[in-house]
Amino acid sequence: MRPHLAAFSLFAFPLLAQAPAEATRDRILQESRTSGAAYAKLAILCDQAGHRLAGSPGLERAIVLAQEMLRKEGLKVWTEPVKVPKWVRGRESASLVSPIPNRIGMLGLGNSVGTPKDGITAQVMVVGSFEELERRGSEARGKMVLFDVPFESYGKNVAYRGGGASKAAAHGAVACLVRSVGPISFDTPHTGAMNYDPKQPKIPAAAVSIESATQIRRMVERGEKVVVKLEMEAHAEPDADSFNVIAELPGREKPEEIVLVSGHLDSWDVGQGAQDDGVGCVLSMEAAATLKRLKVQPRRTVRVVLYTNEENGLRGGLAYAKAHAGEADRHVAAFETDSGNGLIEGFTLDLRGEMRSRPTGAVAPTDPRAMKGLANFQSFAPLLAAFGPMKLDFGGSGADVGPLVALGVPGIGVGHDHSHYWDVHHTHADTLDKVDPKVLAENSARLTTLVWAVADAPDALVPAK
Ligand SMILES: [Zn+2]
Repeated sequence: MRPHLAAFSLFAFPLLAQAPAEATRDRILQESRTSGAAYAKLAILCDQAGHRLAGSPGLERAIVLAQEMLRKEGLKVWTEPVKVPKWVRGRESASLVSPIPNRIGMLGLGNSVGTPKDGITAQVMVVGSFEELERRGSEARGKMVLFDVPFESYGKNVAYRGGGASKAAAHGAVACLVRSVGPISFDTPHTGAMNYDPKQPKIPAAAVSIESATQIRRMVERGEKVVVKLEMEAHAEPDADSFNVIAELPGREKPEEIVLVSGHLDSWDVGQGAQDDGVGCVLSMEAAATLKRLKVQPRRTVRVVLYTNEENGLRGGLAYAKAHAGEADRHVAAFETDSGNGLIEGFTLDLRGEMRSRPTGAVAPTDPRAMKGLANFQSFAPLLAAFGPMKLDFGGSGADVGPLVALGVPGIGVGHDHSHYWDVHHTHADTLDKVDPKVLAENSARLTTLVWAVADAPDALVPAK
């Protein structure tokens, strides 16, 4: 409450004067801040499932645990089958052979092939960009190319992780090392998906810690000949059976209309996947569970979707959109949270599917349906103002709801502050102790409030065509 309003509230009739929407918001806020439910669920996921790459026993445990947690809340729960790729890391290591023997902090990249049994031993060529590789391409033959590119943004640096190996292979390199994609490091290399250009030979690819990458660069710049031995057992196995986990709180008036709220249950095969994307899963679960515990039944159905295989295939998101294409027009909105547990500072409305005939995917400011959608979206600002200033504007949503957005479903991105997300993302350090329980509870209140408001609004978020 703002101080200058306090006296007025005491003088007037505070409870009766409060609009029902604000009263519901305050109950959500109180429940989220005091229940500890989001954190308790996340602890179970982190400790009892652990990391959970597609096709792994950890993900299978998580699928069972998530259903149990959702059923305990009294929600309707089911699973939908999805075939997922299975990539197995196996044992791996990298070491400096010369000028001095030393251990290298490394983590193989997802989808990479392994090395021969005896590993690959080769001289290292260091480049700072794709342009430098093209310029000095003739030097790469028979070498291990290290892309030592300081972190600017995830979007920029991830291009080296994703495509570096094939670019190096095109010049005859025998293996690829990529400076770990993250701003800081305590010898914690970041894994993540890489992809092969089918036109190039497949060479093994690994992330190396910032500590090791910068050491190798210093040695090379002094004119020392750096030789590294890389050993990786990484390989693909046949596709595995997996599932999307889905739960619902049926709507009281328009149960056929759906407000979807989602995260991905899989993670990389290191750490606990606490923030990527355990947080998104428990926030999504809590959006429905909090309303159920408060006996608040919104006008429309709130559907929770926990996707499988976001990290190395997106098969869960694609399978959901395919299975539910027939009811896409009844999805009023699709929320996705997949950027850690920084405080939620706003939400973005993604109408690119509506605008897909336009080459840039941009929403034209003159499109009347889009502008009405934005006006409806921004009409929730006063309700959210209780949490502090919250930005509500056009923007992106997420990878898993992308296929739904392409069908014309309005996506809603959850704007977490991600200034520290990239510190731990895809590393052994993505564990529960990095998650602030108070921030998680606050995020739960913010997300649940907007999910409820969209599900309970008299009109659909974006008017029908
Ligand atoms: Zn993620």
